[in-house]
Amino acid sequence: MDWTGIKGAVLRDVPMKRYTSMKVGGSVRYMVYPIDEEDLLGVVTRLSENGISYRFLGNGTNVIVNDSGLEEAVIRVIRINILRHRYHGDSCTVTVSGGMSLKRFITDCARRGLSGLEKLYWIPGTVGGGIKMNAGSFGSSISDHLLDVVVFNRDSGFKTIAKDDMSFGYRRSSVRRNDCVFMARFNLHKRDKGAILEDMDYVYRERKTHHPMEFPSSGSVFKSVGGEPAWRFIEKAGLKGMRIGNACVSEKHANFIINLGGATARDIKRLIHRIKGEVFERFGVLLEEEVEFWGFDDKATENQRQV
Ligand SMILES: Cc1cc2nc3c(=O)[nH]c(=O)nc-3n(C[C@H](O)[C@H](O)[C@H](O)COP(=O)(O)OP(=O)(O)OC[C@H]3O[C@@H](n4cnc5c(N)ncnc54)[C@H](O)[C@@H]3O)c2cc1C
Repeated sequence: MDWTGIKGAVLRDVPMKRYTSMKVGGSVRYMVYPIDEEDLLGVVTRLSENGISYRFLGNGTNVIVNDSGLEEAVIRVIRINILRHRYHGDSCTVTVSGGMSLKRFITDCARRGLSGLEKLYWIPGTVGGGIKMNAGSFGSSISDHLLDVVVFNRDSGFKTIAKDDMSFGYRRSSVRRNDCVFMARFNLHKRDKGAILEDMDYVYRERKTHHPMEFPSSGSVFKSVGGEPAWRFIEKAGLKGMRIGNACVSEKHANFIINLGGATARDIKRLIHRIKGEVFERFGVLLEEEVEFWGFDDKATENQRQV
């Protein structure tokens, strides 16, 4: 395929295990890094003309890619860095690119004394991935302070969509598979910097205590069930430490599957299957995956998280 004219980097046959936090997954044919709007449009047009489907990847912290890899191309907007501030009284409208790391964004907000997103500190994804997943923690969701989103789509181009015209639910949004969250605007308010940093420190310490941050993982594997966290069912079923190959149910947090080193996507899939089976048998509860599976034939588990 001819990539002449595309300004950003185009990588070929890239092992996805290097680009996902779970550290599993075979190769993707193309991984492309557009550097601006024009480039993004060019990349998507080029792929479409060549009949190659594509997905947008942020930091890869919520996806598990099959060992056989992906037929699609992967587009990453993480090299586009936009950050703008407009102050009005005690509030500030912050415009941020979809590819920016959430951690970096929230740290920058804290430095400026801008509050609203600090409870999401240390969620390891990007702003765009966070909006797609409506990421949240400690009772706060990324959509809480969202004003609008610039979404790019091949059919409609770049379009600003107000939050009220989107839908957000528990770990899901109306962002579709071929939509790119290019930019987002948040309404944040001024607050004492020290107090913001204290909250962030609390969030970090809680995460460090309760999450197995020392191992590769994709965060929580399953969604809560009717407000009841999934880990309770998994723990009560005595599944902590259960292992298939090098995929293991974390002893620290039962809703995390960790990669002990060299685990395969197949190991993880089989372990998920076992967990679901055991929890269903014990409690009659069907756990639903929060993580997305890419490149698996089983469409039922391909969670696209659309409302
Ligand atoms: C240790 C750990 C802790 C975690 N803790 C939490 C937590 O507390 N709360 C929580 O909600 N999640 C948590 N997660 C899961 C994950 O970090 C979030 O879901 C995060 O929002 C995913 O962002 P990402 O950029 O990594 O997205 P990816 O994993 O790269 O992609 C996830 C989805 O978003 C889409 N996407 C990515 N970027 C864009 C874009 N620019 N435009 C459109 N679509 C895009 C992808 O196509 C895919 O559908 C955790 C994960 C780990 C590994």
